[in-house]
Amino acid sequence: MEIVVLVKQVPDTANVGADAMKEDGTVNRAALQTVFNPDDLNALELALDIKDKYGANVTAISMGPPKAVEVLKESLYRGADRVYLVSDVKFAGSDTLATSLILKHAIEASVKNYDLVLTGRQAIDGDTAQVGPQVAEKLGIPQLTFVTSVESVNKKTIRVSALTDEGSAILEAKMPLLMTVEGDVNVPRPPRVKRLLKYMNAVSEFQMEEDWLTDEEAKYIKEKGLKVKVLSFCDLNVDQNLIGLSGSPTRVKEIHSVVFKSIESRAYPATQDGVGSMMNELVSEHIIG
Ligand SMILES: Cc1cc2nc3c(=O)[nH]c(=O)nc-3n(C[C@H](O)[C@H](O)[C@H](O)COP(=O)(O)OP(=O)(O)OC[C@H]3O[C@@H](n4cnc5c(N)ncnc54)[C@H](O)[C@@H]3O)c2cc1C
Repeated sequence: MEIVVLVKQVPDTANVGADAMKEDGTVNRAALQTVFNPDDLNALELALDIKDKYGANVTAISMGPPKAVEVLKESLYRGADRVYLVSDVKFAGSDTLATSLILKHAIEASVKNYDLVLTGRQAIDGDTAQVGPQVAEKLGIPQLTFVTSVESVNKKTIRVSALTDEGSAILEAKMPLLMTVEGDVNVPRPPRVKRLLKYMNAVSEFQMEEDWLTDEEAKYIKEKGLKVKVLSFCDLNVDQNLIGLSGSPTRVKEIHSVVFKSIESRAYPATQDGVGSMMNELVSEHIIG
């Protein structure tokens, strides 16, 4: 079985400091730590679990700037077999429509006979949850969304549990198909020490092109298979008019930086009655309850 997992490096929106936004209202990416998109860790775990139970090759693909290689190394530490970085200045400024087109071409260029494509349900920065379904449409394969677990895999059919408006349902579908995976549905395995020691020296082809490696180090990286393949514009059979800013129909009209400030404070005595009055007030103001 061939499984592709789409993984995204995102700004750590849980730890946003005062300098997170620039004066012009754009995100100050340099001031934000980056993390593995949480839902994508759940998607990767689901793929690795299928691999453990049924046997599979797991390929992780990420589109992003050169430093996105870090989430690919993380994927290798956890058990992915192959990784690809999709990166080119021509891709910059892509909205979800363009991003999903690039990812579709990246999948086709790297994994010929894929059975499953897994994505997270949602990325914590863009937050649209559009990329998974759009990639399925563009690949021309069916999709199951809000998947929480895999019940069984039988030759070319997969049975999964997924969230629905009414609760949950057991769904069966023929592969190849794309599934978007809910967050918090499993506990992502930690990096394996052996794999971490093996892949910690992995570098992307971008880094190989820079001159900071000695000839010996470069030879070692090639021999040990530690070179992360970069898929650039030239490697993908994608129309340049449909990608990047010019290929992105989404227009950001206005950005507001919302800063919550406390405008008044109230003191309650640290007694049973004091806590009671505070709770009553919070409920009557519809802040809780
Ligand atoms: C006009 C415009 C310009 C933009 N320019 C840029 C830019 O220059 N640089 C930039 O980083 N963003 C840019 N963005 C944001 C970018 O479009 C989105 O981050 C991207 O399309 C993913 O959308 P999302 O974050 O809503 O992902 P969702 O749809 O919420 O993600 C769902 C799942 O899809 C997969 N996925 C999503 N994105 C990727 C990815 N890149 N690689 C692998 N898997 C992925 C993951 O599995 C993820 O869990 C721009 C957006 C707009 C509207």
